[in-house]
Amino acid sequence: MTKQCSSSLVGLAQAGPTFSPDAALAAKRIELIDHLLAIRGDVLVEREVDPLDNAMAFAGRGRAVDEINRTRDLLRQVEAAIGRFNDGTYGTCEECEGDILEARLKAVPWAACCIPC
Ligand SMILES: [Zn+2]
Repeated sequence: MTKQCSSSLVGLAQAGPTFSPDAALAAKRIELIDHLLAIRGDVLVEREVDPLDNAMAFAGRGRAVDEINRTRDLLRQVEAAIGRFNDGTYGTCEECEGDILEARLKAVPWAACCIPC
């Protein structure tokens, strides 16, 4: 009985009609943190002895640093959205204070502004 309940809940979570931004945001936050930890490993690669390998490692590191900055920025937006969700201001545009369309929030759950803003 309990097993049937939990499996039907999983089905609902995957295809349910109700949109739960908190779950989407929490999942995105974990994904971004995992991603950050993964790229951080690329940046902390030991220096190669061969100068060419070294140069390539540096180029790769530059890209990884950009990626870390982008990911951190997104993580900040996701965490701010989690904060708004907890405050009860989630879904309100930070610019015009109008409602952000649900379609936009489904596409970008951490959106802080409506499409016109
Ligand atoms: Zn707006």
